[in-house]
Amino acid sequence: MNISRNLNEVFKNIENAAIRSGRKRDDIMLIAVSKTHPVEAVFEAQKCGVNVFGENKVQELLEKYDKVPDAKWHLIGHLQRNKVKYIIDKVEMIHSLDSIELAAEINKRAEKIKKVMPVLIQINIGKEESKSGIFEEDIYSFMEGLSVFSNILVSGIMTIPPATDNKDKTREYFKRMKEIFDKIKVNNYSNFDIKYLSMGMSSDYEIAIEEGANIIRVGTGIFGSRNYSKEV
Ligand SMILES: *Cc1c(COP(=O)(O)O)cnc(C)c1O
Repeated sequence: MNISRNLNEVFKNIENAAIRSGRKRDDIMLIAVSKTHPVEAVFEAQKCGVNVFGENKVQELLEKYDKVPDAKWHLIGHLQRNKVKYIIDKVEMIHSLDSIELAAEINKRAEKIKKVMPVLIQINIGKEESKSGIFEEDIYSFMEGLSVFSNILVSGIMTIPPATDNKDKTREYFKRMKEIFDKIKVNNYSNFDIKYLSMGMSSDYEIAIEEGANIIRVGTGIFGSRNYSKEV
């Protein structure tokens, strides 16, 4: 797996998509999703200038956290309340806030260590039963519920759109996310600072950027397939 070559390709694609959307390469944060890949792959990516990594499982994040100095970690997958305590001091951002109960737990744990934890609200844009996240129509009541938690900073929204080969359909979901993002930016909550729109993975990150994403989460496109060899 040639991580360096893959990354150069991804960097180039990000830059071009950013230009198409009237922005700069540096306006887009790339999260390298290292789940299932060994720390050697993370080191390799670090050598190529990437230092923000995403994991979707707490246990795996903790293992890599201990082995990789200096990297920044984002928790991008579903988070169980009883695991918040393990990661609260280790991650830069939690992308998968999907319930008030989880927010309460993050808030409680963050308060204990005198931290304010940036979180993104996960939106279930395709209303899929298999996915977690808030429905579009529930976002305002959800925001109101979050407004009492002074040790979380609600920093934006995240989604994983329904899997489809139809790029137009994917684009529609991203457009809807951008509309939600622009709408909720305007609010009076002191623990809100909406600036991140986290969407786009290996198969669709260029479309996501064109539609306004400023955080993309790319795994396969950098580290290769997760199905076969775990070797770098
Ligand atoms: C695995 C994962 C990604 C990366 O997916 P790829 O298709 O490998 O790029 C992005 N976001 C989340 C939430 C993930 O779980």
